[in-house]
Amino acid sequence: MSLRTVSREALVGSITLGVVFIVGYVFGKKKSSRMSLSKSHGEGKENPLLQYVLNHSMREHPVLKNLRLRTLEDSWSIMMVSCEQSQFMVNLAKLIKTKKALEIGVYTGYNTLNIALSLPDDGVVVACDVSEEYTNIGKPFWKEAGVEQKIDLRIQPALKTLDNLLAADQAGTFDFVFIDADKVNYDSYFEKSLQLLRKGGIITIDNVLWGGKVLNPTPDDADTVAIDKLNKKLHKDTRISISMLTVGDGVTIAIKL
Ligand code: CA
Repeated sequence: MSLRTVSREALVGSITLGVVFIVGYVFGKKKSSRMSLSKSHGEGKENPLLQYVLNHSMREHPVLKNLRLRTLEDSWSIMMVSCEQSQFMVNLAKLIKTKKALEIGVYTGYNTLNIALSLPDDGVVVACDVSEEYTNIGKPFWKEAGVEQKIDLRIQPALKTLDNLLAADQAGTFDFVFIDADKVNYDSYFEKSLQLLRKGGIITIDNVLWGGKVLNPTPDDADTVAIDKLNKKLHKDTRISISMLTVGDGVTIAIKL
């Protein structure tokens, strides 16, 4: 498999995302609150510098690539995290020697698989989602990659799973968290995740720029209001150190102090 092949396939995703970006603005308010409005590679072939970045940095496991290509066939593929963002987050997880991860919002499990591939043999990622339909797309790929035993999928509202973990004395035991589910619950996901996280652990939060809407939140747009409110809160939060990155649709990295 050549890098040229990888870049072309990444580009297919980029073009798709570019189209959906526009659709997202048209239908954004009516559709699922999980919908992302943009991706860093939404500019596709119009962005040769980003293409260069993909060509010179992506190291995608072959099964992971196949899951990405399968997911791009789905009409909601914009919900999939971009490949370069996923690779970045997994590198962060590896940097802190993550054994226990938590993912809130799975969709077809592209990032779930990427995290699972990075975990040691006794590692686990607790994956939270409400959709059997979408997670069932990913399951055969998890199995093919030989890491399905590391993925603890919980199909129920994520807040319930987080409460269950806290009730099971799992506070302070997680190394890494990725939050990418319904936006109105972002603050609750963050607070419960912070309890579950160990000191020095990392929470990554997706879509913190929400297609640019955070610049001008309107009271009737609950998703944007929720994201903007959390962004403002985290900026002043002394329990964590943070960076807000412009990769993808904006990602906040919060390290528990
Ligand atoms: Ca997202």
